[in-house]
Amino acid sequence: MASAAGASPFRVVHTVCSHDCPDSCAVLVTVDEEGRAVKVAGDPAQPVTQGFLCGKVAKYLDRVYAPERILFPLKRKPGAQKGPQPRGRELDAFERVSWDEALDAIAARLRQVADRYGPESILPYSYAGTIGQLGFGSMDRRFFHRLGACQLDRTICSEAGGVAWNLVYGKKLGTPTEDFRLAKLVLAWGANIHGNNIHLWPMVEEARRNGARLIVIDPYRTRTAAVADWHIAIRPGTDVALALGMMHVILNEGLEDRDYIAAMTHGFERLAERVREYTPERVADWTGMTAAEVERLAREYASTRPAALRMNYGLQRCENGGAAVRAIAMLPAITGAWRYRGGGAQLSTSGGFAWNKIALERPDLALKSPLGRLARVVNMSELGQALKEPGRDERSENRDRDACERDDGPAVHALFVYNSNPAAVAPNHNAVIRGLKRDDLFTVVHELFLTDTTDYADFVLPATTFLEHTDIQGAYGHYFVQLSQQAIEPPGEARPNVWLFGQLAQRMGFVEECFRDTPEEMIRQALAIGADGHSTNANMEHITFEDLEERGHIPLAFHRAPEEKPFQPYTFGAVPTPSGKIEFYSESLAAAGQDGLPGFYPPVESRWSEAAKRYPLELLGRKNDNYMNSTFANLPGHRKMEARWNQRLEMHPTDAQRRGVADGDPVRVFNDRGAIELTAMLNPSLPAGVVAARLDWAKLHGDGANINSLTSERLTDIGGGATFYSTLVEVEKTKAEGSSAVSLKFIEEQPQILRLTTPELKDVRGPVRSE
Ligand code: SF4
Repeated sequence: MASAAGASPFRVVHTVCSHDCPDSCAVLVTVDEEGRAVKVAGDPAQPVTQGFLCGKVAKYLDRVYAPERILFPLKRKPGAQKGPQPRGRELDAFERVSWDEALDAIAARLRQVADRYGPESILPYSYAGTIGQLGFGSMDRRFFHRLGACQLDRTICSEAGGVAWNLVYGKKLGTPTEDFRLAKLVLAWGANIHGNNIHLWPMVEEARRNGARLIVIDPYRTRTAAVADWHIAIRPGTDVALALGMMHVILNEGLEDRDYIAAMTHGFERLAERVREYTPERVADWTGMTAAEVERLAREYASTRPAALRMNYGLQRCENGGAAVRAIAMLPAITGAWRYRGGGAQLSTSGGFAWNKIALERPDLALKSPLGRLARVVNMSELGQALKEPGRDERSENRDRDACERDDGPAVHALFVYNSNPAAVAPNHNAVIRGLKRDDLFTVVHELFLTDTTDYADFVLPATTFLEHTDIQGAYGHYFVQLSQQAIEPPGEARPNVWLFGQLAQRMGFVEECFRDTPEEMIRQALAIGADGHSTNANMEHITFEDLEERGHIPLAFHRAPEEKPFQPYTFGAVPTPSGKIEFYSESLAAAGQDGLPGFYPPVESRWSEAAKRYPLELLGRKNDNYMNSTFANLPGHRKMEARWNQRLEMHPTDAQRRGVADGDPVRVFNDRGAIELTAMLNPSLPAGVVAARLDWAKLHGDGANINSLTSERLTDIGGGATFYSTLVEVEKTKAEGSSAVSLKFIEEQPQILRLTTPELKDVRGPVRSE
């Protein structure tokens, strides 16, 4: 939709925000006659974007034109040690090289590693740094399949919840975002709508203007919780107990929808038996609520129509996160909330999009690799374990290739990172760093900035923003297919990963034509465009590439006429589960030896566990509202928006008093995996026994740690996801000259990173609101 506005020298280009956010906003980029982007704005014609962007992306040109962007390929200088360099001096460890030199050298080294240790000793590591279909997974997957490299199980964010939802409903469909405005009750469960799903907020506001109530269930008083009608701060990891307790009350008081249950669900009798033990009193003991509050919540939820439940992925990052999502997802099936427009639930809408992944990713290419099969799978939430140093025999020059084959394959000898910053975001930071430091590990990083991960790279390759490449995108918070057109030329020699892996494939001698596909050809493949020019994908048959170019966004077929024919999933008809019904009981889980019903099993790292004797505090390692995981954390404007919480440990006053800690004291937070030094900030709205700190780059912290120095590689009960919110720690006050002094000194010395002086920091810290 690049269009000239009359005689204006400016062009307006339709792009799509590709950051890992449910909203997938339509972004209009204004470009001047010199090809420079001068404005980004939300597309007013896109019904969910509604013409506005979040605070992070409204300032996006700060990122696109940041002076610190990597503009050229970089190669580690001979003798330069891997590890953090002083901020602003990272380039000292690298020398500029041409793309040709970088690609030749990387291809040669990958070939060498594959020949010596087998291709499964090469590990790609990527996630949702971009969620466009091409940038997230296309040419990269083709390349690594053809090479025979490890497959990566991309579990770090949403896998537990996604698998759990699908166990109940078969497909990730939910209440359309636009329909939340019709609700009379919005139950935001682990969903900070105001912080990271901001385009749902206008719908919630409209619903509230029409009399709806907003209830937020979250251990932390988020922006959303702070403006709710009722904030319920349960203890971390107790969501499943609360959901089962609500069911107990609903069934006890006859508030369930028996007709809906009979017609649409499977396993009700077993579930009803299970929830008998979840009395309000027991649930109150676990969650920290009162029994009366459990009852009140259940009654209000079951008796309000329509009731819309929005849960987000934070709640499933606990050891029992899969069970929690299953149990919560069952609530609207028990009350029949799906029957009413504006009711139901939403975890993700991504199941509405049927992309042609086979064409994009070409798993068949694995048959042409030296393995002749699909390679082993490595779980990205266990990166520290995956990067363990190989045994001595493997490192011997004279080793036999077979000698290094373990049951689970060879050790990792080459790591290729793109769309991610694992040295900041992966759990068990210290284990990850030990792996990245290995001299024998060859590491390539495709990035926009010099990050915690590039400190360990042998090669750093310059990447593009979504303004600088073309892609196609769905969403997990709405039902629109959108085309993101390249708006500007990449700065310097930055290149998208589609180009990078195509080039690398050719250097590796891969002759398959698919490695020469253009972005437009790949978009047509993703859409499975047929002979008549239309997509052949389910729900996309009305879409042509040309229409997308013209309009920028097109709704999925079932969402084309929302007023005349609203989309209400799970209202009637077959459900894509093994039983064809909404499944309260899962035969497949039971067959795998797991509990076929959701149940509350306290996390190994929780206040109920043995480990709590040594580490009694439950840590919430929170995401920042104004960053996207670790993205944006290096930009001064974004840091300023988070200044109040930077390097702070939020503590309940009772926990602080017990440890002799006062507001503003330097503290050390620690467990067996690591430690981080922070400044205490008292917050009475936290449940007692819970502390909270926010994710940051380790290199932007005085002691080089971040909250992932404390998190574990333990996996969720379902889906093998990361368990960031099942982390036990202890806190101690440190001496006056300790961490706080170091951190503040560090900040003062980095005016380009955080333009705040010490007195200003005191101002922004201020007292914590106690509402
Ligand atoms: S981060 Fe989310 S809310 Fe912000 S512009 Fe991107 S898609 Fe929209």
